[in-house]
Amino acid sequence: MITVNEPILEYRPGSAERKALRAELKALQSQSIDMPLRIGGKKVSSKRTYKCHVPHDHAKILGEFHCADAEHAHAAIEAAGAAHEEWSNMSLEDRSQIFLKAADLLAGPWRAKINAATMLGQGKTVHQAEIDSACELIDFLRFNVEFARQIYDNQPISSPGCLNRSQYRSLEGFVFSLTPFNFTAIAGNLCATPTLMGNTVVWKPSERSVLSAHFIMDLFEEAGLPPGVINMIPSDIPEPISNVVLSHPDFAGINFTGSTRVFQILWQQISDNLSNYKGYPKIVGETGGKDFIFAHSSANIDELVTALIRGSFEYQGQKCSAASRAFIPSSIWERVTEKLVQQVSTIKIGPVTDFSNFMTAVIDKRSFDTIAGYIDYAKKSDDHEIIAGGSYDDTKGYFVQPTVVVASSPTTKLMTEEIFGPVLTLHRYEDDDIDATLKACDSASPYGLIGAIFAKDRRVICDLSDRLTHTAGNFYINDKPTGAVVGQQPFGGGRASGTNDKAGSLWSLIRWTNPRTIKETFVPATDYHYPSMEHDETDLKL
Ligand code: NAD
Repeated sequence: MITVNEPILEYRPGSAERKALRAELKALQSQSIDMPLRIGGKKVSSKRTYKCHVPHDHAKILGEFHCADAEHAHAAIEAAGAAHEEWSNMSLEDRSQIFLKAADLLAGPWRAKINAATMLGQGKTVHQAEIDSACELIDFLRFNVEFARQIYDNQPISSPGCLNRSQYRSLEGFVFSLTPFNFTAIAGNLCATPTLMGNTVVWKPSERSVLSAHFIMDLFEEAGLPPGVINMIPSDIPEPISNVVLSHPDFAGINFTGSTRVFQILWQQISDNLSNYKGYPKIVGETGGKDFIFAHSSANIDELVTALIRGSFEYQGQKCSAASRAFIPSSIWERVTEKLVQQVSTIKIGPVTDFSNFMTAVIDKRSFDTIAGYIDYAKKSDDHEIIAGGSYDDTKGYFVQPTVVVASSPTTKLMTEEIFGPVLTLHRYEDDDIDATLKACDSASPYGLIGAIFAKDRRVICDLSDRLTHTAGNFYINDKPTGAVVGQQPFGGGRASGTNDKAGSLWSLIRWTNPRTIKETFVPATDYHYPSMEHDETDLKL
């Protein structure tokens, strides 16, 4: 690879990046932003608007976005169709320039604005915003250009007298990008990747991250994206949009990231509509997880506890890769839990504008209530005991304290269901019961997204890696399960966690092309006979 990862800025006191970010945070809080739909390059208003709240202070409104309805979905599909021919005929080089320019703008003059929007709109600390909306999105934009070139360069061999080639065409129709709230980078990547491969897109961002989506559209337009290539139609009520999109004959594929439940609804809807489509749609979905850390008695305690804290509580546990269940052997249980509980008690939680906070609020009331529901369940259930945290308060912002729960078995509710919040559940296993515990780790939850093991003994590392082969699509040895880097750890999992098309690698781009194989013969045959058909006296005598 020639492309390198964008360096993570540190935002130390007095640094230029800290000053620029502070200024943007101030500017965004002192205005109310009007966020229209983007259809065919036009800013479109709708009758209904929806307010964007600040998660750490829900009385604060950052602006309002216009909500799309079924008519807007039709208009967006039409605009995508109108832009398709010219866009798909544009060379890969020209399409690439747009996204490389967007990456440079984001690395430079747009960095502070999109980071500030992600911090305020999606409740991220400085560090979490920087690794997401700046570095990861910049990486996606730059690395995808290199991956696309590698795909285009992949050509068949030719034999004498003919030339074979693969033409990497776009899909016939439009792609629907449906994105989650938790990563600005995922939202930008899911709509940009199919377009880089020559497709046009209808994009519905999450209603919980429209502020950063609004600025991503501005960024792409500033970089030269032609009208109609990406059409953004947010709404707090997604069904009327997805109903129109998924029943349209030109629907050619879906690029989804979000919950398993929603993906299964969409897949079913696609199956029900199959006979309406011009082709078989590409279905890409990266979905939920119940990610684990499995510790062996040879694990280093400090490394393990740091991974448990960072892996479970950064971004309030709202990462699909967040550690949510951990298996700790009896021989190190006391040392691990003592240190963990002590360190959790030092975690600072508060507004994103106070840069000394390690955690801030969860995204909204719906998430807050779900997470609080799990904590209340743990309090009442005989199978669970809360050993750290366990409180929550939404008076001003949606704050949930980092919570550690001990489960009596690896199959309890909190050990198996995705919570998507700052709740880590531990299970203590007897050291000589490791075989059964590994089996439970593999089979107790329906997901197969991320896992980490902690051990020093190499034989154990090999053994655990083998026995957990299908338990996770991204597997970490002596590291936390979060923080996959584009180009370094291609991302995705199987089972109920998705189609495992590996964002951040060339595999995810392959889904968005429809190759045509072309064979050209230089001196074509002029006689249909083959030499084997020539007259032979000896054959006749047989
Ligand atoms: P979500 O499923 O609630 O929403 C995702 C998108 O689907 C949003 O745009 C939403 O508006 C839309 N949507 C919701 N219900 C719909 C319906 N009935 N019909 C059509 N569209 C609908 O997910 P979320 O809360 O935004 O994100 C969190 C989830 O995403 C978690 O489950 C997390 O594990 C998962 N996630 C997975 C990955 C991964 O790479 N595997 C990455 C990030 C998030």
